[in-house]
Amino acid sequence: MTPALTPNLQAAAEILENVRGKPQSVVERKRLAVQLSALMLSESNQTMTAEEKKIQAQLSRLMQDPIGKAFTMAMTDSAFRSHSHKRVADQLIYLLNQFGVPKYLDWLKRAELFAFKTMPASVAQFLVPMAMHELRSQTARVILPGERAALSKHIKSRKAEGVQLNLNHLGEAILSEEEAKSRLALYLDDLENPDIDYVSIKISTIFSQINLLAWDYTVDHISERLKLLYRAAIKHRIDGKPKFINLDMEEYRDLHLTVAAFKKVLEEAEFHDYSAGIVLQAYLPDSYLIQKDLTEWAKKRIENGGNWIKIRIVKGANLAMEQFEASARGWAQAPYTTKGEVDANYKRMVFYGCLPENARAVRLGIASHNLFDIAFSMLVRVENKVEAYTGFEMLEGMADHIRRVVQKLTGSILLYCPVATKEEFQHAIAYLIRRLDENTGPENFLRHVFGLKPGTESWESQSALFSTSCDEIDTVTADPRRKQNRLFAPPILEFNASFENEADTDFSLLQNIRWIESIAHAWENPEVKPIPLMIGGGKKFTIRSRG
Ligand SMILES: Cc1cc2nc3c(=O)[nH]c(=O)nc-3n(C[C@H](O)[C@H](O)[C@H](O)COP(=O)(O)OP(=O)(O)OC[C@H]3O[C@@H](n4cnc5c(N)ncnc54)[C@H](O)[C@@H]3O)c2cc1C
Repeated sequence: MTPALTPNLQAAAEILENVRGKPQSVVERKRLAVQLSALMLSESNQTMTAEEKKIQAQLSRLMQDPIGKAFTMAMTDSAFRSHSHKRVADQLIYLLNQFGVPKYLDWLKRAELFAFKTMPASVAQFLVPMAMHELRSQTARVILPGERAALSKHIKSRKAEGVQLNLNHLGEAILSEEEAKSRLALYLDDLENPDIDYVSIKISTIFSQINLLAWDYTVDHISERLKLLYRAAIKHRIDGKPKFINLDMEEYRDLHLTVAAFKKVLEEAEFHDYSAGIVLQAYLPDSYLIQKDLTEWAKKRIENGGNWIKIRIVKGANLAMEQFEASARGWAQAPYTTKGEVDANYKRMVFYGCLPENARAVRLGIASHNLFDIAFSMLVRVENKVEAYTGFEMLEGMADHIRRVVQKLTGSILLYCPVATKEEFQHAIAYLIRRLDENTGPENFLRHVFGLKPGTESWESQSALFSTSCDEIDTVTADPRRKQNRLFAPPILEFNASFENEADTDFSLLQNIRWIESIAHAWENPEVKPIPLMIGGGKKFTIRSRG
């Protein structure tokens, strides 16, 4: 027997039931979404566990302690990189002296850190295994132990709660082919594991020599490795169904590359029946056009007897890195410059993806922790009656109290579950930093969620931000922010124009790839034969280096 719904959930379910199959006006949808968010918030606040409250309180203290936050970021990023305990101890002591002991920690941890700071590194090194154990257990809610037995236990307990898991073996860009092959082996191992039916991977972890100047070469290599993974997913079925593989999205640099490899492999006859997924980041204006292109492509694939694909829509987790790259290279920042635009584009993408003819070809994963956007998306999918083709996705350990409410209201949830073994914990550091950023970023929803209650000032301000972004859905630009085009000659400058350095060529843009390819082509196929070099008495038109 399904348990009776609480009054909040009952009221939320009624709102959704009333709009089923009935498209709402923008104003009405906004009003209902705010009501729905308020009900979900009240419910999640009431059902928070004591441990969740403790974590939220600590995060809230962290937000009031900018120096403590800087220490935590620096410690996570730099202290545990080395395998030498003495080196780790030395770095920790250095950071504690530089930043001081963080004020947001409880008195016991502060006392421990004070004691650590006063020791010489040669003594403190013996406490490093304990410190590492502490870091791993502190972060165990967001990064699960990858050891087989512990992982299997976790998967089973989540399944018992009705939660589907999307496993991600944490890993960032790698440097060598040896490393790429060992990651590939790890993914193949995951696909063989009968407990795992859904995985997410990053293309930068399966091929180490990504080079946008060697476009075809790079796409071919990534495609070959993807094929190995897709084949394994098809082979190791669960209940007759192939396992699901999703391509996570990372840097802007990899956007077109990931899409190209994804399409190339799925266009092959061998994979016509296979459904796979890809992520699009709403903080890139480009993503809306790519979503439309992928949707039209998927419709044709189905017309030709192929299967549906899936897109997970997220906002994007690498803002700081994109900003840094843009400023260092003299390019425009690829993501929008305001959160309002990102939120509007996110809703536009959800709206487009939920249109029934689109949702049938491209299933939609709606990934967010922002209650307002979740409520908006719940309404849109019910209005379009596409619940069977769309679902909600959240990150393990980030907002469990919200996750439970979404699951109760929609009947399912896909939880992105990052794992790392003790030895792999190094790979988890970048992920931890991104999550810390997400919890504390000044404009991010989760930063404001602690103590948030309908009717408070903070609630009104979040609600107003939501309302504005709804009004901008049709007007927010979809033009890529990076526009450099080497196919056109640069404008001729006035004689007395001030000097401005020319930016590096941006090879993440397809037009610039076409430009460099045309130069290589012209070089290899000259219209007029060049004057040959005379080497060793023979004419040489080309000199190629081999090796
Ligand atoms: C299941 C799941 C899978 C995910 N997979 C990926 C993935 O593959 N790739 C990836 O990049 N991310 C991924 N993410 C993370 C995601 O991109 C967001 O960082 C995260 O979900 C926060 O967005 P939100 O809607 O939950 O919260 P919100 O607080 O509403 O939004 C925060 C986001 O808004 C944007 N933002 C904030 N301030 C600004 C600003 N000043 N200017 C411009 N933009 C701003 C950033 O994108 C920030 O992450 C995933 C998230 C989930 C839940």
